[in-house]
Amino acid sequence: MTRKRSLRDLPPEALDGKRALVRVDFNVPLQDGRVTDDTRIRAAAPTIQYLREKGARVVLLSHLGRPAGGPDPKLSLRQVVRDVERVLATTVEFIPDPVAGVAATKRLPRGGVALLENTRFWPGEEQNDPALAQTFAALGDFYVDDAFGSAHRAHASTEGLAHTLKPAVAGFLMERELRFLGEALERPRRPFVAVLGGAKISGKIDVIEALLPKVDEILVGGAMANTFFLALGFGVGGSLVERDKVDLAKGLLARAGKKLILPRGAVVAPSLERVAERRQVLSDKVPLDCAVFDIDETTRLDYRARLLRAKTVVWNGPMGVFEHPPFDAGTRAVALAMVEATRRGATTVVGGGDSAAAVAGLTSKLTHVSTGGGASLEFLEGKPLPGVAALEDA
Ligand code: ADP
Ligand code: MG
Repeated sequence: MTRKRSLRDLPPEALDGKRALVRVDFNVPLQDGRVTDDTRIRAAAPTIQYLREKGARVVLLSHLGRPAGGPDPKLSLRQVVRDVERVLATTVEFIPDPVAGVAATKRLPRGGVALLENTRFWPGEEQNDPALAQTFAALGDFYVDDAFGSAHRAHASTEGLAHTLKPAVAGFLMERELRFLGEALERPRRPFVAVLGGAKISGKIDVIEALLPKVDEILVGGAMANTFFLALGFGVGGSLVERDKVDLAKGLLARAGKKLILPRGAVVAPSLERVAERRQVLSDKVPLDCAVFDIDETTRLDYRARLLRAKTVVWNGPMGVFEHPPFDAGTRAVALAMVEATRRGATTVVGGGDSAAAVAGLTSKLTHVSTGGGASLEFLEGKPLPGVAALEDA
């Protein structure tokens, strides 16, 4: 992928006094109108603060949740203003309407910040309506896209705006995501090991297909492994499995050869609740009345050894039902092995919503944890992200 023009590439006179229209990802979790996790707001702060320091007037755009075809007070970005003010340590003007709001953006002082209402309150957003992109474009003098997590959708405030308002450049978070995910896939230092897990093989087939020719090994875990076991003729008891994907799994096994590494054993239990009855079994000995909820100790040690040999690691998908301890132990072990690999000089990248949640607290000890969720998966699949493609090349 060609490098995208970055905010860093714009000269000071392109910023000073100008209105920067910044697409951020403030799609934060809310409970009773309060932000329960401000990670995404903090992730956008470096770009916003840089612009403010350079004298720009900052107008922020974001979507929030999935409003069904119109304004919904429960999904108003007004609820997020206070947290943005706290994170940026400045006041933030709320703009309820993009047409009426143009005047407010022109009145902003240098270094001032405004936040537009949820972009999805206007139906043209998800239809990538050029007229809505024009309306948004009137709120700024140039465009900065810092919403990697929204880059896999061609919407008016992402792809549409990047075509409409120039210069259209990548913010620092976007730049970081593209750099680490891109370098891992395009110029990996070897051995290059991928760890893939999670609930379903079906959502990850394209990831496996895209990674197979690039990696030296794929370490499989999570419920995804069960479908491979079925393909090998093992029983999987009551485990989460996709029976209709068995042929596909057979094909992948045949093509992958020695690259695809499956768990040697599993932690099984009759149910998630009956934790006391959990035990470790070999992968081909899963009892009929049990389900696989995690990788076993032997597999953890095996994967750890492989990760410590790697120079590049990409991880997507938990190794077990990590939301229910003690079935988080396998995921935890892989996370700690990645931390150690990082300390020994490996480049370690985590993508995927649940995977990012599983390594929360370890972020600073890994090379990069993508904020992207679905976007990072599509990136791993090798798909071009429309929101990125529309930005100017460096
Ligand atoms: P990501 O969001 O990182 O892409 P996924 O959404 O694919 O990851 O997978 C996460 C989900 O997979 C978690 O909710 C986890 O509980 C589930 N999971 C992992 N292993 C198992 C298993 N053995 N049985 C059932 N669910 C599993
Ligand atoms: Mg998920």
